Amino acid sequence: MNPNLPLLLNLQKIDTKIYLLQKDQQTLPQNLTAKEQSIQKLELQRQELKKNIQNISTQEALKEGDIQTNEERIQNLQLKIHTIKTNEELWALQKEIQNLQEQNSTLEEESLELLEQLDQLQLELKQIEQQLQLAKQQLLQLQQETENTLKEIQNQLEKLQNERKQLIEKIPQKERSIYENRYKSFQNQPAKLLVEIKNDCCQGCFMIQPPRLSDQIILSDELVFCDQCNRILYHPDKIPQSIP
Ligand SMILES: [Zn+2]
Repeated sequence: MNPNLPLLLNLQKIDTKIYLLQKDQQTLPQNLTAKEQSIQKLELQRQELKKNIQNISTQEALKEGDIQTNEERIQNLQLKIHTIKTNEELWALQKEIQNLQEQNSTLEEESLELLEQLDQLQLELKQIEQQLQLAKQQLLQLQQETENTLKEIQNQLEKLQNERKQLIEKIPQKERSIYENRYKSFQNQPAKLLVEIKNDCCQGCFMIQPPRLSDQIILSDELVFCDQCNRILYHPDKIPQSIP
């Protein structure tokens, strides 16, 4: 067996850890973006509701104004009743008063409807504002947690890079460059650079290997590669158990 296989396996373990931590480094800030986007959405909803409330309030105030004007006109007309001389004039005046009263009754109904809408919208606004407050608190907490986790990841990465540096110095140039070259081509799966051979089957690509290959791993000092996928093959039971 190539005497460097345990070291290479150890290197693979370190590289896998580095790879996973770097992936976390990239994905963690994306959680923040999602939360920020949901806050933006709530902010927009809040603005929209406020605009609606403003519009309906204005409409309602206009109706109140119309009611008030009509009331005044009714009062003035009622004062005029005593000065009326003919029945026709009296009849016309009463008709005008009745019209204004009918107008006001419609306006009051419409105004009441708007007030009900306003109540509903104010309730929705209150709910949105509560949601917003909660989401902002959650964002703050998430920011703090992410910052701490990223710091922790950075520390771990520095430690692993040091371990890697020390380890790689123990591996001869030839094996080192074989590993490094494969590492480049298997970047998405650093854990699969070195794979077990089980019942003559490569555990990386699961293709059956010629039986001589299995023996070759034990007998030869050279590294042995899968015929199909070119990964480095090893027998797990021949590797010392001391690898952390
Ligand atoms: Zn293979």
